[in-house]
Amino acid sequence: MSVLEGAERLGGGCRSEELTLPGFVHDTCSTVHALALISPFLRDLPLAEHGFEPAQPEAPAAHPLDDGSAVILERSVNDTARGLGPDAGAYRSLYGPLVPRADELVGDTLGPPRPPRHPLLLARFGLSAIRSAYGLARSRFEGERARALLAGHCAHSMLSLRTPASAAFGLMLAVGAHAVGWPVARGGSQRLADAMAEHLRSLGGTLETGRHVDSLEDLPDDGARLLDVTPRELLRIAGERLPETYRRRIGRYRFGPGVFKLDWALDAPIPWTAPEVARAGTVHLGGTLDEIAASEDAAVSGRHYERPFVLLVQPSRFDPTRAPEGKHTAWAYCHLPPGSTRDTTAAIEAQVERFAPGFRDLVLGRSAMGPAEIERRNPNYVGGDINGGVQDLRQLWTRPVARADPYSTPLPGVFLCSSSTPPGGGVHGMCGYWAARSALRV
Ligand SMILES: Cc1cc2nc3c(=O)[nH]c(=O)nc-3n(C[C@H](O)[C@H](O)[C@H](O)COP(=O)(O)OP(=O)(O)OC[C@H]3O[C@@H](n4cnc5c(N)ncnc54)[C@H](O)[C@@H]3O)c2cc1C
Repeated sequence: MSVLEGAERLGGGCRSEELTLPGFVHDTCSTVHALALISPFLRDLPLAEHGFEPAQPEAPAAHPLDDGSAVILERSVNDTARGLGPDAGAYRSLYGPLVPRADELVGDTLGPPRPPRHPLLLARFGLSAIRSAYGLARSRFEGERARALLAGHCAHSMLSLRTPASAAFGLMLAVGAHAVGWPVARGGSQRLADAMAEHLRSLGGTLETGRHVDSLEDLPDDGARLLDVTPRELLRIAGERLPETYRRRIGRYRFGPGVFKLDWALDAPIPWTAPEVARAGTVHLGGTLDEIAASEDAAVSGRHYERPFVLLVQPSRFDPTRAPEGKHTAWAYCHLPPGSTRDTTAAIEAQVERFAPGFRDLVLGRSAMGPAEIERRNPNYVGGDINGGVQDLRQLWTRPVARADPYSTPLPGVFLCSSSTPPGGGVHGMCGYWAARSALRV
């Protein structure tokens, strides 16, 4: 088996670089690897033998509020519930039955549509997951703390929080946080990609970088060809060979909002007003449910929001190898209209200052990437969309098109295996796993 990678370095969404200053290691894309730990495929690989080591923050996530307090997503459902005042019981009843069966739930959801093995469990999850994040937050919880916490998780979906099924992503992320945590890879996400590459080599596979594929002729044709590309790239690579109807259908594939990302080299840890935020790996900056919903509505409808919802990760707090002694790294991004050229550095940093006054004074170096730069570095992020296409009800299970086997294409032996196939974005390896199964069936 051979892997051809267009970039000069392996890893795609799992790469690390010194983006700011020497000695500061930044993940260019993914950092938090909950999905890798919970993935039925990745967790069976001997990645630890090849150098992948998860570093767990004490708490998966924190959500600071304007009153100077913070809601903490703890590893335990009960400990999290205790911070939610009147919504403690509602929180326990939402997640309590799901978390102990996280493996079964993941087995039934991280893949193409198929008859579930655990229909009652899936139905229980589905009743909440099918709802809009906004509707679920308001009907399940009465207090702002629990509503804001749910909104922060669900906003990872890059959907409007008023869209049906926008709750699904957030619920799954929270189940993962309670079941396996939200770790970072010690030394940077590149270690996860490198461990996978080492494993492949140990099985006799080969990998070549700097081999951008422009046509099917660039690929060996003595076996299955799995393309880790978007439908747009598939059209470019195999366009004329694809039947007209399939071409038209994948041409209608929808991409979502983009991201604007900042990486910082910092002189000291971020000085959060609520000291408990320091215990968390991921920090959701956006205040209340209403404020986060307004920010996500703006991004999906082509507008920029003045105080955007910001996802921040502070990996060096839990992995000292990321920065020189005493120094720190952090990254943050916000969602904005696809392909936007607006520089949102000031808006993102204002959100950090809002909950951590004095933050700006600690910045030693900064790297900024808007949607165009993100796509230039990796063609899978069209217009800065890091999920490989909109993940709403219409497109989550039917990516790239509605087809009995979404990984196959009308071309014999040619398969798609990117996040533009089920189950969509994130570092879980399940798109490739299912595509490989599909190829082996042929
Ligand atoms: C800023 C950012 C933060 C993120 N944070 C997280 C996170 O914390 N946790 C998480 O789980 N996910 C996160 N993600 C999302 C995650 O990285 C992606 O959803 C996932 O990597 C997508 O997988 P993929 O296989 O579709 O594409 P990729 O992982 O991007 O891999 C595609 C590979 O194919 C190569 N390629 C594409 N076209 C060609 C071609 N024509 N010829 C040769 N090579 C080609 C690309 O160079 C790339 O290496 C983040 C993404 C970004 C950008």
